[in-house]
Amino acid sequence: MKEHDFNPESLMMTYGYKPELSEGAIKCPIFQTSTFVFKTAEEGKAFFELAYGLREKSPKEELGLIYSRINNPNLEILENRLCLWDKADDCAVFESGMSAISTVLLEFLKPGDLLVYSNPLYGGTDHFIQHFLDKIGVHTIGVMPHHSIEEVKQMIEESGKSDKLAMVYLETPANPTNHIVDIEKYSELAAQYNTEDKKVLVAVDNTYMGPLWQHPLQCGADLVLYSATKYIGGHSDLIAGAVLGNAELMLRVKTLRTFLGNMVSPHTAWLMLRSLETLKIRMDQQTKNAQVVAEYLKNHPKVEKVYYLGLLKEGTTTYDAYKKQCSAPGAMVSFDIVGGEKEAFLFLNHLQLIKLAVSLGGTESLAEHPKTMTHAGVDETQQQEMSVTDKLIRLSIGVENEKDLLWDLEQALDKV
Ligand SMILES: *Cc1c(COP(=O)(O)O)cnc(C)c1O
Repeated sequence: MKEHDFNPESLMMTYGYKPELSEGAIKCPIFQTSTFVFKTAEEGKAFFELAYGLREKSPKEELGLIYSRINNPNLEILENRLCLWDKADDCAVFESGMSAISTVLLEFLKPGDLLVYSNPLYGGTDHFIQHFLDKIGVHTIGVMPHHSIEEVKQMIEESGKSDKLAMVYLETPANPTNHIVDIEKYSELAAQYNTEDKKVLVAVDNTYMGPLWQHPLQCGADLVLYSATKYIGGHSDLIAGAVLGNAELMLRVKTLRTFLGNMVSPHTAWLMLRSLETLKIRMDQQTKNAQVVAEYLKNHPKVEKVYYLGLLKEGTTTYDAYKKQCSAPGAMVSFDIVGGEKEAFLFLNHLQLIKLAVSLGGTESLAEHPKTMTHAGVDETQQQEMSVTDKLIRLSIGVENEKDLLWDLEQALDKV
Protein backbone atom coordinates (compact mmCIF):
# COMPACT_ATOMS: atom_id res chain seq x y z
CA MET A 1 0.00 0.00 0.00
CA LYS A 2 1.17 3.50 -0.82
CA GLU A 3 2.16 5.74 2.08
CA HIS A 4 0.04 8.83 2.36
CA ASP A 5 0.46 11.76 4.73
CA PHE A 6 -2.99 12.70 5.91
CA ASN A 7 -3.61 16.29 6.92
CA PRO A 8 -4.35 16.86 10.60
CA GLU A 9 -8.02 17.77 9.96
CA SER A 10 -8.52 14.38 8.29
CA LEU A 11 -7.15 12.55 11.31
CA MET A 12 -9.05 14.37 14.08
CA MET A 13 -11.90 11.84 14.05
CA THR A 14 -9.88 8.64 14.35
CA TYR A 15 -6.17 9.12 15.14
CA GLY A 16 -4.84 7.23 18.13
CA TYR A 17 -8.11 5.51 19.03
CA LYS A 18 -8.57 1.75 18.70
CA PRO A 19 -12.31 0.78 18.56
CA GLU A 20 -11.47 -2.85 19.30
CA LEU A 21 -10.33 -1.83 22.79
CA SER A 22 -13.74 -0.22 23.47
CA GLU A 23 -16.38 -2.75 22.36
CA GLY A 24 -16.09 -1.44 18.79
CA ALA A 25 -17.51 1.98 19.70
CA ILE A 26 -16.94 4.38 16.80
CA LYS A 27 -16.35 7.19 19.25
CA CYS A 28 -13.87 7.16 22.08
CA PRO A 29 -15.85 6.70 25.33
CA ILE A 30 -15.18 8.83 28.40
CA PHE A 31 -12.78 6.89 30.62
CA GLN A 32 -14.33 8.20 33.82
CA THR A 33 -12.08 6.18 36.09
CA SER A 34 -9.45 7.05 38.67
CA THR A 35 -7.39 3.87 38.48
CA PHE A 36 -6.63 0.97 36.09
CA VAL A 37 -6.42 -2.76 36.79
CA PHE A 38 -3.02 -4.42 36.22
CA LYS A 39 -3.10 -7.90 34.65
CA THR A 40 -0.31 -9.05 36.95
CA ALA A 41 1.88 -7.64 39.71
CA GLU A 42 4.86 -7.86 37.33
CA GLU A 43 3.00 -5.61 34.87
CA GLY A 44 2.25 -3.07 37.62
CA LYS A 45 5.94 -3.05 38.57
CA ALA A 46 7.00 -2.52 34.94
CA PHE A 47 4.54 0.38 34.47
CA PHE A 48 5.80 2.15 37.59
CA GLU A 49 9.44 1.72 36.57
CA LEU A 50 8.66 3.75 33.45
CA ALA A 51 6.36 6.24 35.16
CA TYR A 52 9.00 7.07 37.75
CA GLY A 53 11.89 7.04 35.30
CA LEU A 54 13.65 4.12 37.02
CA ARG A 55 14.67 2.63 33.67
CA GLU A 56 14.65 3.51 29.96
CA LYS A 57 11.71 2.54 27.74
CA SER A 58 12.42 -0.47 25.51
CA PRO A 59 11.97 0.37 21.79
CA LYS A 60 8.26 -0.45 21.29
CA GLU A 61 7.15 -0.11 24.89
CA GLU A 62 4.44 2.38 25.85
CA LEU A 63 3.63 3.55 29.34
CA GLY A 64 0.78 1.37 30.62
CA LEU A 65 -2.29 2.88 32.24
CA ILE A 66 -1.81 3.35 35.99
CA TYR A 67 -3.84 6.14 37.58
CA SER A 68 -5.66 9.10 35.99
CA ARG A 69 -3.36 11.73 37.48
CA ILE A 70 -0.50 10.05 35.58
CA ASN A 71 -2.32 8.95 32.40
CA ASN A 72 -5.78 8.28 31.01
CA PRO A 73 -6.88 7.24 27.49
CA ASN A 74 -8.90 10.44 26.89
CA LEU A 75 -5.87 12.59 27.73
CA GLU A 76 -3.46 10.44 25.75
CA ILE A 77 -5.57 10.39 22.58
CA LEU A 78 -6.17 14.14 22.86
CA GLU A 79 -2.43 14.77 23.32
CA ASN A 80 -1.56 12.58 20.33
CA ARG A 81 -4.03 14.48 18.15
CA LEU A 82 -2.79 17.90 19.27
CA CYS A 83 0.78 16.84 18.37
CA LEU A 84 -0.25 16.52 14.72
CA TRP A 85 -1.00 20.23 14.24
CA ASP A 86 2.28 21.50 15.67
CA LYS A 87 4.37 18.49 14.55
CA ALA A 88 5.51 18.05 18.14
CA ASP A 89 6.98 14.93 19.78
CA ASP A 90 4.68 15.15 22.76
CA CYS A 91 1.94 17.16 24.41
CA ALA A 92 0.57 17.59 27.93
CA VAL A 93 -2.96 18.84 28.57
CA PHE A 94 -3.85 20.84 31.67
CA GLU A 95 -6.91 21.92 33.58
CA SER A 96 -6.44 25.52 32.34
CA GLY A 97 -4.22 27.62 30.13
CA MET A 98 -2.83 29.22 33.29
CA SER A 99 -1.85 25.87 34.75
CA ALA A 100 -0.05 24.99 31.49
CA ILE A 101 1.80 28.32 31.61
CA SER A 102 2.62 28.28 35.33
CA THR A 103 3.82 24.66 35.19
CA VAL A 104 6.24 25.48 32.35
CA LEU A 105 7.57 28.57 34.15
CA LEU A 106 7.99 26.64 37.41
CA GLU A 107 9.71 23.68 35.78
CA PHE A 108 12.26 25.66 33.77
CA LEU A 109 13.01 28.63 36.06
CA LYS A 110 14.68 28.72 39.45
CA PRO A 111 15.66 31.49 41.89
CA GLY A 112 18.39 33.70 40.40
CA ASP A 113 17.46 32.94 36.78
CA LEU A 114 16.63 35.63 34.25
CA LEU A 115 13.41 35.57 32.20
CA VAL A 116 12.85 37.84 29.20
CA TYR A 117 9.21 38.24 28.14
CA SER A 118 7.25 40.18 25.54
CA ASN A 119 4.48 42.67 26.28
CA PRO A 120 1.54 42.81 26.19
CA LEU A 121 0.94 39.46 27.86
CA TYR A 122 -2.26 37.76 28.90
CA GLY A 123 -3.24 39.31 32.27
CA GLY A 124 -2.91 36.07 34.23
CA THR A 125 0.55 35.35 32.81
CA ASP A 126 1.60 38.92 33.56
CA HIS A 127 0.42 38.54 37.16
CA PHE A 128 2.22 35.23 37.62
CA ILE A 129 5.48 36.71 36.32
CA GLN A 130 5.27 40.03 38.21
CA HIS A 131 4.01 38.70 41.51
CA PHE A 132 4.86 35.03 41.87
CA LEU A 133 8.16 34.69 39.99
CA ASP A 134 9.37 37.91 41.57
CA LYS A 135 8.61 36.44 45.00
CA ILE A 136 10.77 33.38 44.34
CA GLY A 137 13.69 35.50 43.11
CA VAL A 138 13.44 35.11 39.34
CA HIS A 139 14.69 38.27 37.59
CA THR A 140 12.63 39.50 34.67
CA ILE A 141 12.93 41.88 31.73
CA GLY A 142 9.69 42.92 30.03
CA VAL A 143 10.06 43.88 26.37
CA MET A 144 7.70 46.54 25.01
CA PRO A 145 6.30 46.55 21.45
CA HIS A 146 8.55 49.50 20.50
CA HIS A 147 11.81 47.76 21.52
CA SER A 148 13.96 46.48 18.67
CA ILE A 149 15.77 43.15 19.00
CA GLU A 150 19.06 45.07 19.37
CA GLU A 151 17.59 47.00 22.30
CA VAL A 152 16.49 43.73 23.91
CA LYS A 153 20.03 42.38 23.60
CA GLN A 154 21.33 45.55 25.20
CA MET A 155 18.85 45.22 28.07
CA ILE A 156 20.03 41.65 28.69
CA GLU A 157 23.68 42.72 28.68
CA GLU A 158 23.05 45.71 30.95
CA SER A 159 21.14 43.61 33.47
CA GLY A 160 24.42 41.94 34.43
CA LYS A 161 22.56 38.62 34.50
CA SER A 162 23.01 37.48 30.93
CA ASP A 163 24.72 34.28 32.15
CA LYS A 164 21.52 33.51 34.08
CA LEU A 165 19.17 33.88 31.11
CA ALA A 166 17.04 30.72 31.20
CA MET A 167 13.99 31.49 29.11
CA VAL A 168 12.47 33.84 26.58
CA TYR A 169 8.68 33.85 26.86
CA LEU A 170 6.69 35.28 23.98
CA GLU A 171 3.03 35.86 23.29
CA THR A 172 2.38 36.50 19.62
CA PRO A 173 0.09 37.80 18.25
CA ALA A 174 -0.41 39.55 21.55
CA ASN A 175 -3.69 40.08 23.30
CA PRO A 176 -5.42 42.58 22.76
CA THR A 177 -3.65 44.47 19.94
CA ASN A 178 -2.43 41.66 17.66
CA HIS A 179 1.15 42.89 18.11
CA ILE A 180 3.51 40.45 16.35
CA VAL A 181 6.84 39.30 17.75
CA ASP A 182 9.35 37.64 15.42
CA ILE A 183 9.78 34.14 16.90
CA GLU A 184 12.77 33.26 14.73
CA LYS A 185 14.69 36.41 15.67
CA TYR A 186 14.06 35.84 19.38
CA SER A 187 15.14 32.19 19.04
CA GLU A 188 18.40 33.36 17.47
CA LEU A 189 18.86 35.89 20.26
CA ALA A 190 18.21 33.23 22.93
CA ALA A 191 20.72 30.88 21.27
CA GLN A 192 23.48 33.46 21.75
CA TYR A 193 23.20 32.77 25.49
CA ASN A 194 23.33 28.97 25.29
CA THR A 195 26.20 27.38 27.18
CA GLU A 196 27.64 23.85 27.31
CA ASP A 197 25.27 22.85 30.07
CA LYS A 198 22.20 24.93 29.35
CA LYS A 199 19.99 25.81 26.42
CA VAL A 200 18.03 29.05 26.75
CA LEU A 201 14.46 27.97 26.07
CA VAL A 202 11.98 29.88 23.94
CA ALA A 203 8.34 29.37 24.93
CA VAL A 204 5.47 30.82 22.87
CA ASP A 205 1.86 31.31 23.89
CA ASN A 206 0.14 30.48 20.59
CA THR A 207 -3.44 30.85 21.81
CA TYR A 208 -4.43 33.53 19.28
CA MET A 209 -3.32 31.63 16.16
CA GLY A 210 -3.05 28.07 17.03
CA PRO A 211 -2.85 25.38 16.34
CA LEU A 212 -3.79 26.31 12.78
CA TRP A 213 -2.22 29.52 11.59
CA GLN A 214 1.16 29.63 13.36
CA HIS A 215 3.58 26.87 14.36
CA PRO A 216 6.20 28.28 16.75
CA LEU A 217 8.16 25.01 17.00
CA GLN A 218 8.86 25.32 13.27
CA CYS A 219 10.16 28.87 13.83
CA GLY A 220 12.76 27.80 16.39
CA ALA A 221 10.73 27.81 19.63
CA ASP A 222 11.19 24.97 22.14
CA LEU A 223 7.76 24.98 23.73
CA VAL A 224 4.33 26.03 22.51
CA LEU A 225 1.56 26.78 24.97
CA TYR A 226 -2.19 27.15 24.64
CA SER A 227 -5.19 28.24 26.51
CA ALA A 228 -7.27 25.40 25.04
CA THR A 229 -10.27 27.22 26.49
CA LYS A 230 -10.14 29.36 23.35
CA TYR A 231 -9.97 27.99 19.77
CA ILE A 232 -9.11 24.38 20.64
CA GLY A 233 -12.16 24.00 22.91
CA GLY A 234 -13.92 26.50 20.71
CA HIS A 235 -17.42 26.46 22.22
CA SER A 236 -16.94 28.55 25.38
CA ASP A 237 -17.95 25.56 27.48
CA LEU A 238 -14.67 24.39 29.05
CA ILE A 239 -11.41 25.57 30.61
CA ALA A 240 -8.19 23.77 29.58
CA GLY A 241 -4.59 24.23 28.49
CA ALA A 242 -1.86 22.47 26.54
CA VAL A 243 1.93 22.46 26.17
CA LEU A 244 3.87 20.86 23.29
CA GLY A 245 7.56 20.33 22.61
CA ASN A 246 10.29 17.75 22.20
CA ALA A 247 10.29 14.49 24.16
CA GLU A 248 12.98 15.55 26.62
CA LEU A 249 11.32 18.82 27.64
CA MET A 250 7.85 17.28 27.70
CA LEU A 251 9.01 14.53 30.06
CA ARG A 252 9.91 17.28 32.52
CA VAL A 253 6.60 19.11 31.99
CA LYS A 254 4.61 15.90 32.42
CA THR A 255 6.54 14.90 35.51
CA LEU A 256 5.79 18.22 37.22
CA ARG A 257 2.16 17.90 36.10
CA THR A 258 1.99 14.50 37.80
CA PHE A 259 3.10 16.02 41.08
CA LEU A 260 1.12 19.27 40.86
CA GLY A 261 -1.88 17.19 39.81
CA ASN A 262 -3.14 19.84 37.38
CA MET A 263 -4.02 17.58 34.43
CA VAL A 264 -7.33 18.00 32.68
CA SER A 265 -10.25 15.74 33.64
CA PRO A 266 -11.27 12.83 31.36
CA HIS A 267 -14.61 14.49 30.64
CA THR A 268 -13.04 17.80 29.57
CA ALA A 269 -10.49 15.90 27.46
CA TRP A 270 -13.37 14.08 25.78
CA LEU A 271 -15.12 17.39 25.03
CA MET A 272 -11.89 18.61 23.43
CA LEU A 273 -11.67 15.46 21.28
CA ARG A 274 -15.10 16.40 19.97
CA SER A 275 -14.01 20.02 19.46
CA LEU A 276 -10.93 19.02 17.46
CA GLU A 277 -13.08 17.37 14.80
CA THR A 278 -14.38 20.79 13.73
CA LEU A 279 -11.32 22.89 14.61
CA LYS A 280 -10.31 23.54 10.99
CA ILE A 281 -13.76 24.47 9.69
CA ARG A 282 -14.50 26.63 12.71
CA MET A 283 -11.25 28.56 12.49
CA ASP A 284 -11.55 28.89 8.68
CA GLN A 285 -15.02 30.38 8.99
CA GLN A 286 -14.03 32.62 11.90
CA THR A 287 -11.08 34.00 9.94
CA LYS A 288 -13.24 34.58 6.86
CA ASN A 289 -15.78 36.50 8.95
CA ALA A 290 -13.05 38.47 10.72
CA GLN A 291 -11.60 39.66 7.42
CA VAL A 292 -15.03 40.99 6.39
CA VAL A 293 -15.50 42.66 9.78
CA ALA A 294 -12.04 44.28 9.71
CA GLU A 295 -12.61 45.66 6.20
CA TYR A 296 -15.98 47.05 7.27
CA LEU A 297 -14.59 48.72 10.41
CA LYS A 298 -11.63 50.18 8.52
CA ASN A 299 -13.99 52.24 6.39
CA HIS A 300 -16.38 53.32 9.15
CA PRO A 301 -16.25 57.04 10.09
CA LYS A 302 -16.67 56.25 13.82
CA VAL A 303 -13.65 53.96 13.81
CA GLU A 304 -10.23 55.54 14.22
CA LYS A 305 -7.92 52.54 13.83
CA VAL A 306 -8.26 48.78 13.31
CA TYR A 307 -5.73 46.32 14.80
CA TYR A 308 -5.96 43.32 12.50
CA LEU A 309 -3.20 41.21 10.98
CA GLY A 310 -4.91 41.24 7.60
CA LEU A 311 -4.52 45.04 7.52
CA LEU A 312 -0.80 45.27 8.37
CA LYS A 313 1.14 47.56 6.02
CA GLU A 314 3.70 45.98 3.71
CA GLY A 315 7.28 47.01 4.31
CA THR A 316 7.06 47.13 8.12
CA THR A 317 8.95 44.75 10.41
CA THR A 318 5.70 43.45 11.90
CA TYR A 319 4.36 42.72 8.42
CA ASP A 320 7.53 40.80 7.56
CA ALA A 321 7.29 38.75 10.76
CA TYR A 322 3.60 38.11 10.14
CA LYS A 323 4.24 36.89 6.59
CA LYS A 324 7.05 34.66 7.81
CA GLN A 325 5.31 32.94 10.69
CA CYS A 326 1.51 33.13 10.20
CA SER A 327 -0.50 31.55 7.41
CA ALA A 328 -3.72 33.55 7.99
CA PRO A 329 -4.74 36.73 9.84
CA GLY A 330 -6.88 34.96 12.43
CA ALA A 331 -10.21 35.97 13.92
CA MET A 332 -9.32 38.58 16.57
CA VAL A 333 -10.09 42.16 15.58
CA SER A 334 -9.50 45.15 17.85
CA PHE A 335 -10.29 48.76 17.04
CA ASP A 336 -10.17 52.29 18.43
CA ILE A 337 -13.57 53.91 18.38
CA VAL A 338 -13.69 57.68 17.79
CA GLY A 339 -14.06 59.11 21.32
CA GLY A 340 -13.29 57.39 24.63
CA GLU A 341 -14.79 55.17 27.30
CA LYS A 342 -18.28 56.70 26.93
CA GLU A 343 -18.44 55.94 23.19
CA ALA A 344 -16.90 52.49 23.67
CA PHE A 345 -19.45 51.59 26.34
CA LEU A 346 -22.38 52.92 24.26
CA PHE A 347 -21.25 50.66 21.43
CA LEU A 348 -20.81 47.63 23.70
CA ASN A 349 -24.14 48.14 25.44
CA HIS A 350 -26.05 48.23 22.15
CA LEU A 351 -24.70 45.07 20.54
CA GLN A 352 -27.49 42.55 19.99
CA LEU A 353 -25.96 39.45 18.42
CA ILE A 354 -22.36 39.88 19.59
CA LYS A 355 -22.17 39.18 23.33
CA LEU A 356 -20.40 41.39 25.84
CA ALA A 357 -17.95 38.98 27.50
CA VAL A 358 -14.25 38.30 27.94
CA SER A 359 -12.57 35.14 26.57
CA LEU A 360 -12.24 34.42 22.86
CA GLY A 361 -12.08 31.78 20.16
CA GLY A 362 -15.59 30.38 20.65
CA THR A 363 -18.21 29.83 17.98
CA GLU A 364 -20.10 32.97 19.10
CA SER A 365 -18.74 36.47 18.57
CA LEU A 366 -17.72 38.37 21.69
CA ALA A 367 -16.82 41.99 22.43
CA GLU A 368 -15.05 43.54 25.42
CA HIS A 369 -13.21 46.67 26.63
CA PRO A 370 -9.60 45.64 27.46
CA LYS A 371 -8.68 48.74 29.48
CA THR A 372 -11.40 48.22 32.08
CA MET A 373 -11.78 44.43 31.74
CA THR A 374 -9.08 41.95 30.62
CA HIS A 375 -6.20 44.42 31.03
CA ALA A 376 -7.50 46.40 34.03
CA GLY A 377 -4.62 45.06 36.15
CA VAL A 378 -1.89 46.51 33.90
CA ASP A 379 -0.48 49.84 35.13
CA GLU A 380 -1.58 52.95 33.27
CA THR A 381 1.72 53.92 31.58
CA GLN A 382 2.19 50.35 30.37
CA GLN A 383 -1.37 50.33 29.06
CA GLN A 384 -0.53 53.46 27.03
CA GLU A 385 2.66 51.90 25.66
CA MET A 386 0.62 48.90 24.51
CA SER A 387 -2.18 51.01 22.95
CA VAL A 388 -4.66 49.75 25.56
CA THR A 389 -6.68 52.96 25.89
CA ASP A 390 -10.26 54.05 26.66
CA LYS A 391 -11.20 53.84 23.00
CA LEU A 392 -9.96 50.28 22.38
CA ILE A 393 -12.53 47.51 21.81
CA ARG A 394 -11.63 43.87 21.25
CA LEU A 395 -13.75 41.53 19.14
CA SER A 396 -13.49 37.75 18.92
CA ILE A 397 -15.27 36.79 15.73
CA GLY A 398 -17.37 33.62 15.64
CA VAL A 399 -18.99 31.46 12.98
CA GLU A 400 -22.20 33.49 12.48
CA ASN A 401 -23.39 34.71 9.09
CA GLU A 402 -21.20 37.68 8.16
CA LYS A 403 -24.22 39.80 7.14
CA ASP A 404 -25.67 39.48 10.62
CA LEU A 405 -22.36 40.49 12.18
CA LEU A 406 -22.11 43.58 9.98
CA TRP A 407 -25.72 44.49 10.75
CA ASP A 408 -25.04 44.27 14.47
CA LEU A 409 -21.86 46.36 14.29
CA GLU A 410 -23.60 48.97 12.16
CA GLN A 411 -26.60 49.40 14.42
CA ALA A 412 -24.42 49.57 17.56
CA LEU A 413 -22.08 52.15 15.95
CA ASP A 414 -25.18 54.16 14.93
CA LYS A 415 -26.10 54.47 18.62
CA VAL A 416 -22.78 56.15 19.40
C1 LIG B 1 -7.17 32.92 28.06
C2 LIG B 1 -5.72 33.01 27.84
C3 LIG B 1 -4.82 32.42 28.73
C4 LIG B 1 -5.25 31.75 30.02
O1 LIG B 1 -5.96 30.59 29.77
P1 LIG B 1 -7.06 29.96 30.78
O2 LIG B 1 -7.53 28.78 30.02
O3 LIG B 1 -8.11 31.02 30.98
O4 LIG B 1 -6.37 29.62 32.03
C5 LIG B 1 -3.46 32.50 28.42
N1 LIG B 1 -3.02 33.12 27.31
C6 LIG B 1 -3.87 33.71 26.44
C7 LIG B 1 -3.31 34.40 25.22
C8 LIG B 1 -5.24 33.68 26.66
O5 LIG B 1 -6.06 34.28 25.81
